[in-house]
Amino acid sequence: MTRLGRRSALAGLVAMLGLATPAWAAETAAPMKVVASFSILGDFVKMVGGDKVDLAILVPPEADAHEWTPGPDEVKTLAGARLFIVHGLGFEEWLKDIRRKAKFKGTVATATRGIKPMMMAAGQVHSHGGGPAHAHGGGAKREPDPHLWNDPQRMQTYTANIVEALAKADPKNAATYRANGAAVKAKLAALEAWAKGEIAMVPADKRRAITTHDDFGYMAARYGFKLIEAQGAGNDAEVKAADVPTILAQTRNEKTKALFLKTLKDPAVAKMLEDGGAVVGPPMYADTLSQPTGPAPNYEAMQRYAVTQFKTAMLKN
Ligand SMILES: [Zn+2]
Repeated sequence: MTRLGRRSALAGLVAMLGLATPAWAAETAAPMKVVASFSILGDFVKMVGGDKVDLAILVPPEADAHEWTPGPDEVKTLAGARLFIVHGLGFEEWLKDIRRKAKFKGTVATATRGIKPMMMAAGQVHSHGGGPAHAHGGGAKREPDPHLWNDPQRMQTYTANIVEALAKADPKNAATYRANGAAVKAKLAALEAWAKGEIAMVPADKRRAITTHDDFGYMAARYGFKLIEAQGAGNDAEVKAADVPTILAQTRNEKTKALFLKTLKDPAVAKMLEDGGAVVGPPMYADTLSQPTGPAPNYEAMQRYAVTQFKTAMLKN
């Protein structure tokens, strides 16, 4: 009888006698319990961890991962995890709160560790989905821009950090994590090359758009297009008919028709802008994946969607 066979027989006997399962009987590779803080990071952990990881993602798709309040279920999920992978750079403002509530004793790994961020303008106000705006860090000093997933090149290091965190916490599956990580890195390189090619199809003097999405700075910098902050279309207030003249004047002054306004909700206002010559872009997924049925259910789809929307609108400049 093999060692494993003996163990199975013993485990059966133990079960028959109604005894608690000894530790060695459970050792045959239950996936490691890992928690990721939000949807985009969760997609990377899923790609690297595969079936070796029992993954829970805290902030669901299309929710604001900057400001979020954990419920009792999420606190319980974290309390039972071996590894908590977070984004860092001040992105998740609720981290301390959930770690305290869960009395988390496992390992915390930061996916952005060692990645050089771009800096946001001093006191730059940033919000999502028309919720309350907040300044990152709130101070007058310049803060790192946490939205670096919009640069696939920086995500190479992000992927390596996730591989290392999983391999360290679960060494027996390290080879699997490294192999999966290598595949993710190859996908990132292909994605970056594709996106460069797409934006290169837009003539250089047309690579401009007006936006209230300040989370695409890394994408614009990587592929060489200019994002101009919208006037008269704030971060919180919905864009109203009264704002239309200011926005249209800006499209003329900045020589771009492309508009990506996150608080533009009213189709009648969108029509006024289009009648005035603007090209109104669709809703964008900047900080989150979409729901599974939406256009950005995973990282690659999210990036392809954003690049395609920018390219399509800028080609009309
Ligand atoms: Zn954000």
